[in-house]
Amino acid sequence: MTATPATGHPASPPYPTLFSPVTVGPVRLENRVIMGSMHLGLEDRRRDAPKLAAFYAERARGGVGLIITGGFAPNRTGRLTPMAGTMRSAADVVAHRTVTHAVHAAGGRIALQLLHAGRYSYHPWSAAPERSTSPITPFTARRMSRRAVGRTVADFVRAAGLARRAGYDGVEVMGSEGYLINQFLSPRTNRRTDAWGGTPSKRRRFATEIVRRIRAAEGPDFLIVFRMSMADLVPDGQSLTETLELARELEEAGADLLNTGIGWHEARVPTIVTSVPRAAFTAFTRRVREAVTIPVAASNRINMPLTAEQVLASGQADLVTMARPFLADPDWVAKAAAGTPGRINTCIACNQACLDHTFQNRPASCLVNPRAGRETDPAFPPLPDRSLLPVAPRSRRKDTAPRRIAVVGAGPAGLAAATQAAARGLDVDLFEAGGSIGGQFRLARQIPGKEEFAETLRYFRQRIDETGVCLHLGRRATVPGLLDGGYDRILLATGVVPRTIELPGIDRPNVHAYPDVVSGRVRCGPRVAIIGAGGIGHDVAGLLTEPDPAAPQSPRSWHSQWGVDPDFTDRGGLTAADPGAPARRVHLIQRKTTRLGAGLGKTTGWVHRSALRARGVEGITGAGYVRIDDDGLHLDVDGARRVLEVDDIVVCAGQDSQRDLYDPLVAAGADVVLVGGADVAAELDAKRAIEQATRLAARL
Ligand code: NAP
Ligand code: SF4
Repeated sequence: MTATPATGHPASPPYPTLFSPVTVGPVRLENRVIMGSMHLGLEDRRRDAPKLAAFYAERARGGVGLIITGGFAPNRTGRLTPMAGTMRSAADVVAHRTVTHAVHAAGGRIALQLLHAGRYSYHPWSAAPERSTSPITPFTARRMSRRAVGRTVADFVRAAGLARRAGYDGVEVMGSEGYLINQFLSPRTNRRTDAWGGTPSKRRRFATEIVRRIRAAEGPDFLIVFRMSMADLVPDGQSLTETLELARELEEAGADLLNTGIGWHEARVPTIVTSVPRAAFTAFTRRVREAVTIPVAASNRINMPLTAEQVLASGQADLVTMARPFLADPDWVAKAAAGTPGRINTCIACNQACLDHTFQNRPASCLVNPRAGRETDPAFPPLPDRSLLPVAPRSRRKDTAPRRIAVVGAGPAGLAAATQAAARGLDVDLFEAGGSIGGQFRLARQIPGKEEFAETLRYFRQRIDETGVCLHLGRRATVPGLLDGGYDRILLATGVVPRTIELPGIDRPNVHAYPDVVSGRVRCGPRVAIIGAGGIGHDVAGLLTEPDPAAPQSPRSWHSQWGVDPDFTDRGGLTAADPGAPARRVHLIQRKTTRLGAGLGKTTGWVHRSALRARGVEGITGAGYVRIDDDGLHLDVDGARRVLEVDDIVVCAGQDSQRDLYDPLVAAGADVVLVGGADVAAELDAKRAIEQATRLAARL
């Protein structure tokens, strides 16, 4: 590939398959990237339509081929939550026009997702193929009568017609992840013996009837996408034969594109968290692709252009669907097309600001891009995007009298503040005492399964160059130095230090602060006690028990660890899990009596807990720490004394703010602001740090 001297951009397409046009039913897409469905929390109130429109339009401008909205229910029963958005009346149509107009004006295409939640509905009126309660909802769904099934099919058809009136290019019928249509398809949840169950073909009838009747009602010039489950990953899920037969019948019924999902929401196999290897499930997609002639899109843990290109070029799919990567970077497609993947703000699959928010009924955003979902909020203004332009050297910047800012500390908060401020034209010096940027993220990326965090550091490194931040590595900022620098404002993003605890024996040589263990400066023996069972305690337990830390994680080893059968021999695509022999015996301890890891993210905590359980990590709650001596760690648990005979003890007891510079600077009259962990260390997380820094930079 050659680069043109004027722009530095490649002269030939860097990802030839990804950027080859494709015809999907009635529409021609200029690239093979679909932005998949995400619930933003802006779908449910009509008054939020302008915000939703701004969100999608920004992604359409960024070049994505086709956008699929969050799920809208075709009737009241199918709503996921009591107030969830629907597409069932003329009033709905009006609100949606705001969205479709904005996307079309930005040159994009958009399809409405129709989702009936079935027994996943979080309200007492839920309905399903049979009376049942899912393991993830408290409500029991009633059994749908034959009439109710017929009416529901008609509701899907009516909703598709309304979507067309609202200006959508098509609809996506949501048939995966364990929602109603998937419930009809699987013997796990459909034991009916009428026309809608009893045999695989009758179980498929609900899905195929919906597609057939939408096609009949809307004709050939309306895009119909069906999102189907590649493998249910639950006991008694669909078989491979049934899955492939469904794909063929959907094509015959009139679907233009098969989008894919994997695993029901109640599956005990993680499918989207950061520890899932990239493109871990595309072998499943390939089989479906070989069974049909319409295009098939692959999804799940595809977040960078090279991965996407490899999936397409190797024939595993015709298109790729990504959702969260478009929260992280609306210009993902444009940056890939320009041959500048290093400029992509990569989704690290942490779920902290997106899915975890959704489960808490809060609007979704993004840890690495707090503007996501807030495109109309003045606190998160669009930045002049230099990312698609040649890098402007600092000396050629146009600003005549930039305000001078010092940022101290190049962890997530400092990086966000410095690059955002510089992008707005301010003159920024960023001081970092260490030899590289990253702060706590540098540690996090050492944890097996958190390698994606390195992408955020690569992105910030790139932004430093693009925005002209003057980075001083290995330079500890001092009070006199900062005062002499003549800065208009000093942002202290000096982060945190690991909390030290008072305990007899805590200064023994076999007691370590977690950074020493995570960074590899200290190697622990075969028996370890971890004091503190927060996010970092869990991470350290994962690191210390990793069966073979030197072996690179591959989809194959990951499938075996979680019991996924890529050969899809049995129903659901499951097999016996083999977590591997843990490298150490680990005890993970907290004083609270609550469930271990209760404060971890809703969508990720269970993955950590289940991985550690499989590796035999002993969780101890309600512990009192007594002392450390030659015998080990002495605890009081439930009124009884217990000694853990361990070789090493790792302290993961939270952090304290590091802000030594603050008081002297304030006393000297400097304009100083604390940001990130230096401001509040309690339950410090990068989401809060980056968001706070971004808000602050917008006000400078
Ligand atoms: P944390 O979540 O606040 O946990 C600190 C742990 O230390 C708690 O288990 C606490 O439990 C214990 N502790 C606190 N003071 C103590 C003391 N004086 N003596 C003994 N034990 C003490 O902090 P963290 O683990 O350092 O994590 C920092 C932040 O990063 C958190 O917001 C966390 O959510 C986030 N993070 C999340 C993940 C993840 O979700 N996987 C991973 C890494 C970091 P007791 O008081 O009950 O003993
Ligand atoms: Fe990705 Fe995390 Fe952002 Fe969600 S919050 S989009 S998972 S980086």
